[in-house]
Order: sequence, then C-alpha cells, then structure tokens
Amino acid sequence: MGDIIKLLSESVANQIAAGEVVQRPASAVKELMENAVDAGATEIMLIIKDAGKTMIQVVDNGCGMSDRDARMCFERHATSKIKSANDLLAIRTLGFRGEALASIASISQVELKSKRTEDDIGTSIQIHGSEFISQEAVSCSDGTAVIIKNLFYNVPARRNFLKSNTLELKYIMEEFNRVALVHPDISFKLYNQDKILIQLSPSNLKQRLVALLGSSYNQRLIPVQQESNLVNLTGFIGKPEFARKTRGEQYFFANGRFIKNPYLNHAVENAFQELIMKDTFPTYFIYLEVDPSSIDVNIHPTKTEINFQDAKSIYAILNAAIKQSIGRYNLTPALDFETEKSLDLPPLPKDHPITPPTIRINPEYNPFEKQTRPQMEFNYKVSGSERGVQWQQLYDPLKEIHPRQIEVPDLEESVYPIIQVENKFLVTQIQQGVVIVDQQAAHERILYEKFIQQEKNGSDGAQKLLLPLTIQLSPDDSQMILDLSDSLSQAGFDVSEFGKNTFVVHSAPSGVESSEIQLLIEGILEAYKSETDGFKNKGAHQLARTMARRLSIKHGRHLNPRESSALFSDLLRCAAPDITPEGKPTMYLLDFDELGKKFKHTT
Ligand code: ADP
Ligand code: MG
Repeated sequence: MGDIIKLLSESVANQIAAGEVVQRPASAVKELMENAVDAGATEIMLIIKDAGKTMIQVVDNGCGMSDRDARMCFERHATSKIKSANDLLAIRTLGFRGEALASIASISQVELKSKRTEDDIGTSIQIHGSEFISQEAVSCSDGTAVIIKNLFYNVPARRNFLKSNTLELKYIMEEFNRVALVHPDISFKLYNQDKILIQLSPSNLKQRLVALLGSSYNQRLIPVQQESNLVNLTGFIGKPEFARKTRGEQYFFANGRFIKNPYLNHAVENAFQELIMKDTFPTYFIYLEVDPSSIDVNIHPTKTEINFQDAKSIYAILNAAIKQSIGRYNLTPALDFETEKSLDLPPLPKDHPITPPTIRINPEYNPFEKQTRPQMEFNYKVSGSERGVQWQQLYDPLKEIHPRQIEVPDLEESVYPIIQVENKFLVTQIQQGVVIVDQQAAHERILYEKFIQQEKNGSDGAQKLLLPLTIQLSPDDSQMILDLSDSLSQAGFDVSEFGKNTFVVHSAPSGVESSEIQLLIEGILEAYKSETDGFKNKGAHQLARTMARRLSIKHGRHLNPRESSALFSDLLRCAAPDITPEGKPTMYLLDFDELGKKFKHTT
C-alpha cells in the first residue's frame, strides 16, 4: 500500500476552521462588527435578512483596505494586527488570528467593498465558498462593507441545525449589544428586514445602557468605579431590588471585549448576598482594564473566556468595589445626578409653586446586615366576596381527575389556627392530621388556576386599568412582545404598540397591580427568551405558569394570620391543591395514625 497522508486543501482547512469560528449567523456578526471597530470606525451599521440566514451586512466608515489587502484578508492567517509573537502580549485589538474572514468566506457567498480615504476609487471583491469569483474597481464611500449571503449554503448539516428566526435574531442582538456596550462613542444601527430595530448615537456609557435596556434603567443603575495598579474597574450594577430571575444582564468586559468569567461573577454575586432574593441574579456591566500581558486570551477561538494572571486579587478588588457601590447607594438613594430623563418632563404650569427637593437618608442603614434586604410590598388579598364563604362549600369535584397525594378533606367545621414557620411554611390541623403547606408553592398553584380561568374567560378575566400604563422596553424585548402578543392577550393583557420600544398597557389580568405590570411583562419576556424555542413547545398555559411563578409570594415573606388563613383556604379551593403547576408538592400531610405510631401509641 502507498502513502496515505495528504495535505488538506485550503478550502477544506478553512471550512474546518469555520466550524470553530462560525457556529451561527450571530458569530459572523460578531466577527464583522469587531473588524469594523478595529478599523477605527465611528459609525457601524448592521443589516440583517431572515435573522442572518440569507444576508448579513456590516457597513463601516473605518480605515478601509487597499486592493491587495482586500484580496489578502480572505487568506487564512492574514492579519494586519500582529507581526510577531511578541505582539501577542500587547494585543489591544479584538481580532488578531486572521481567521474570521477566511472562515466565513469558505461557508458563504461574500462580497466586500472597501475604500481608503487616500484612494480615489474603491475595490469590490466576490468570493463564494473560498473560491475567488471576481475583483473590480468600484466607486464607493470611505470604509468597508462586507455582505455575507446564504451562510452555510454549502454545509447543509450546519444550515439545518440553525434555530428559529426569532432565536437566531436574539443571538445576533446579543452580539450587537456586546459590541455596542463597549463603544458608547461609536454610532450603531441595526436593521432587520428593512426595519430599523436599534439606533444608537454616540453617548456616555449610562446613556448607552439605557438606550439598549429601556429608560426604566435610568433609575436602576448604580455606578462602580475603582482604580488600582492591578486593574481599573468601571461600570454599573443594578440596584438589588431589580435583581433578575435569569442571568441575562450580567456582562464583564476586559480590555474592551466581552468575556465570561464564572470566578469573577462569583465576586459580584457574593457582594449582593443577603440583599437580593434567593434564585435571583444581580444585573451588572463591569469593565475591567488590565495590562494586556497579564491575560491569556488564547484559550478559546471565540475568545469569550480568558484567564487573568492574578485572578485572586482581582476577585477581592471587584468584590470590595461592588460592596462599596451598594453601600454608597443605600445611603443616598434619592440622589441621581446622572438622570437623563429631565428633557421628558412636561413643563410646569405657570405660577406653579416650586418646592425644593428633599433628600431622605437613613445614616443607620447597613446593607450588609442580615434581614435588611429590600422586600416588595405584599398583602395577601382577602377579597370581599370570598371572605364569607367557607372553602368546604366550594370544594371542587374537578380535583378528582388529578392524581391525589393527599385526600383533601371535604367537610370540616372548625378552623384551626395556622402558624407560619421560618417565613416559609404554614402549619395547621385538618381532619386527618397535621398539614404543612409550602407558601410559595401554594400561591403558585392558586395564581395558576386563577390565570387559567382568565384565559378561558378571555377578556372577561381582564381588568381595565384606570390609567393606561406606558412601559418602555429594550429593543429586543420589544421584538419579543410582538411575537407574544396573542398569548399575552389570551392571558388578559391588552398591550398596544405606541412608538419606538414603547407600549401602552390598557388592561391586565385581574389581581395584578399596576405597579407590578412592567416587572411582570419583563419577567414573562425573560422566561420566553430562556425557553429555547419559545413557549410553543411547552404546551398550553405556559404563560399562566410563568405569571404564577413571577407573582407568587416567596419564601422569606412574613404572613399575618389573616393572610395565612386566606392563602390556606384559597389553596384548598383549587382544583389540584396539592401540586404546583410544575408538579411539585405544595403540602405535606402528617397523618394522625402515623404520628401515633411515631410515639408508639397503641390503638
Ligand atoms: P483578524 O481580525 O483576526 O485580523 P480577520 O479575518 O477578521 O482577522 O480580518 C483580516 C484582516 O482584514 C484584518 O486584520 C484587517 O486588516 C482586515 N479587515 C477586516 N475587516 C476590515 C474592515 N472592516 N476594515 C478594514 N480592514 C478590515
Ligand atoms: Mg477579525
């Protein structure tokens, strides 16, 4: 047998590299946008068709390329960013491997137009699947435009693997945000299907965050700043009371690039401990500047994971800086000099008396003391019509069709006192024994059935708001809410689009307070985004489930005796009182017989 080892052709090698660099349209977006930033652009435009599956275009006004460079940039390991191995230690640009364009061009049809300021005429080059098609002189404006068409057209397996347009667009917006958040001084535009989705003018960091996240963030962010010879920290954290149910709003940037770092994440979350509710995550946007030679960016081809040389010290500095910021905010919560909202305020009527603003501070406040975490107001509602009715009379035979864990008693005259234990459980006596109820699980069940009932009754279940509520959402949330509008209206929300990223809520499911609506809708959108394929595959009632989870009273909430007993009787009135919508138990029954056996009683 002869020799069997062959060198891979250049285009096969590029395709293999592309497997690592380009997983989905969003990866190509990232590479093109980073190149535009590296080229010194001050304006960057991203244009998308079909969530990047048919077209991705990035147009910049950066330094542009010569004829030769425009050809060269598609060669593997072609880069202008490093010349020797030593340069690797001082890397400040986003790219440096010279792999991205070669990889992308091997799995798509690429057209690049570029012109340097000093040249009179630009150049246009076309490459399909690594194959050079043509290059010609064209007249175009200064800078570079790269158009990628039909990504993965020659790798059907990868193309079939792509997710729904909604989800792929979400990934693209995420990459877009990551770049836009590092360069508030650059203007960005994002178009999808010829519609402008995001438009960002040059601004400071806080304005950029608010532009991307929605104007409610004006009031939610606390600045962080700490200089040291090891690391300089800047950025913002979210106030503890706005901690989220998912990690969606946690961003670290090191030397201008988005990074993931679980260890440093721990430093931040640890600083928030005791201040936020269990299972919620603080919002943060933290920018670290370190000596480039003290990080190793080489460990992952897409470079979101990096190692710091002195990670332990950075951890300590970061943790202290966050604690300090939270502490400072808690002392002066009413001061917010940076608010950019002032222009939106309506002018005061003539002769309106002007009262000087007052600031209330509590100098005794110590945010790190236990038990001081901010709690949302909660009153378990005991509604008038329900008050006089005995739950026993409302016992619903429907529950029989559910698998029972506890035979819920159907007749009982006396009502025993209910004790709350650990601000978590309600303990009381029923006919067969002692019953222990998990307050959060129980409330989820109660709300779930209520919302389901409302879904059935359609808009009858909704309550019209006295004053329609205007809510501001981030551009990607705005996109999502449109996707979800059917489900939302079924659940009793009447939401209409009012303007760019602005919506008006006319009605909400009954029982939902006006003040809860914005957070609830954000919560629903967040849950929707975290389900990879939206709610569709999760069966009916997913929205009711999410709302119930969001609005339920949580562990740690003190209930007064009236609230406890209202919760208990509402639970027993449910069709399936003993399990949560997810099938977890809401209650545990300690049978009197069993109890007797424990004490070796003989009957
Ligand atoms: P890298 O960014 O790692 O150098 P790329 O494949 O992304 O590798 O790009 C190769 C080279 O092409 C870059 O080093 C740069 O010189 C040039 N280039 C790419 N995009 C642009 C752009 N938008 N404007 C100017 N030059 C660009
Ligand atoms: Mg690059």
